[in-house]
Amino acid sequence: MFDDRPPDGPVRYRTTNAGIRAAAIPATCKVGVHSLARVGYIARASEDEGVVRISCRECAEVPDVDHFWVLALRGAPPELVELDDEPYRDMTPIMVDPRGRGVPPERARPTRA
Ligand SMILES: [Zn+2]
Repeated sequence: MFDDRPPDGPVRYRTTNAGIRAAAIPATCKVGVHSLARVGYIARASEDEGVVRISCRECAEVPDVDHFWVLALRGAPPELVELDDEPYRDMTPIMVDPRGRGVPPERARPTRA
């Protein structure tokens, strides 16, 4: 379901008025068409790799759609996770072509002896 692509960027954190460390994850899927709160999502954090992957349920059903965010974790695990697009306005998602990263294989040309 997931691959080991590099992160799109870091997780954005904030401290609430009550002093709680909160992590934001994007409220919109990576393709930009679905509200994750509405269609559902899977968020899976890997402490070993230092990233969290957030997959849109709707996009994950469609072949060849780049369906998940990869965000780099920083510091202690957050006490709270929020869905919020605002902290991610300046982040440009790295879109990956699952069929081969957009580079066609060089065609083998016949060589002369
Ligand atoms: Zn989606």
